[in-house]
Amino acid sequence: MCKVIAVANQKGGVGKTTTAMNLGMGLAEEGKRVLLVDADPQGSLTISIGYREPDKLTDTLFDIIMMEANNEQISMGYGIIHVKDYVDLIAANIELATAEISLSSTLCRESILKSYIEDLRPIYDYIIIDCMPSLGMLTVNALTCADTVLIPVQAAYLPVKGLQQLIKTIYSVKRQLNKELEIEGILLTMVDNRTNYAKDIVMQVNDVYGKSIPVFPIEIPLSVRAAETSAVAKSIYDYDPKGKAAFAYVSLTREVLAHGC
Ligand code: ATP
Ligand code: MG
Repeated sequence: MCKVIAVANQKGGVGKTTTAMNLGMGLAEEGKRVLLVDADPQGSLTISIGYREPDKLTDTLFDIIMMEANNEQISMGYGIIHVKDYVDLIAANIELATAEISLSSTLCRESILKSYIEDLRPIYDYIIIDCMPSLGMLTVNALTCADTVLIPVQAAYLPVKGLQQLIKTIYSVKRQLNKELEIEGILLTMVDNRTNYAKDIVMQVNDVYGKSIPVFPIEIPLSVRAAETSAVAKSIYDYDPKGKAAFAYVSLTREVLAHGC
């Protein structure tokens, strides 16, 4: 059985891409077949994987979405880049920004990505979608084809406030487009445990949301080494395997595996 996890938060810079990348790589280390989908025109996931110039890539998520929207036949495996054992990627670049506009006039515009992803379910154990920092049509598409949504939240005041809007959107997608959608969990990221402030935020998230939404017991610590991974195009396990961020992402991976499909 395949599980599709959208990593989403409309707030920018909260650790979505870092989490999508390291959760995906972590699941692959555990022997799961993983497809990473970059659903952000910034192409950060594509860059983190090692494609330094995403704008030069062809056959990206943009092409897939446009072909689906135009009812064109897409051959099996189209747009899928083999990265390493157990890890494939669907890349994105700036072209994807225009798909967002084109989708607004397409029939069944919220389910365009779903029709493509459904065909890939038999091939993978996990499909991880890295969403862009907005609640626009691409993110709604990701939520419509996902089984669960994982919400990285930076331990700071504003991101915690923005959560309400995200949760509202998730529930309206669940009501109208994808009844099966569940929340995998809120993941606190960039937690600096040396400060009382970060500890307060962690407590606040647990108090406000913990009763209705699962909050991962693991927090991702603030780590310079984690911040460096995208620049060196390595997972945290390869770059700093003994560090606290690698340890946290291994725990997250095991937690996600324990949740099952
Ligand atoms: P965007 O909304 O732009 O897509 P994002 O939510 O995907 O951003 P990331 O790109 O994963 O966030 O992370 C934002 C920045 O924080 C990056 O520079 C990243 O390297 C850094 N970063 C990610 N995780 C950590 C961490 N645990 N500790 C310190 N820095 C981190
Ligand atoms: Mg990102």
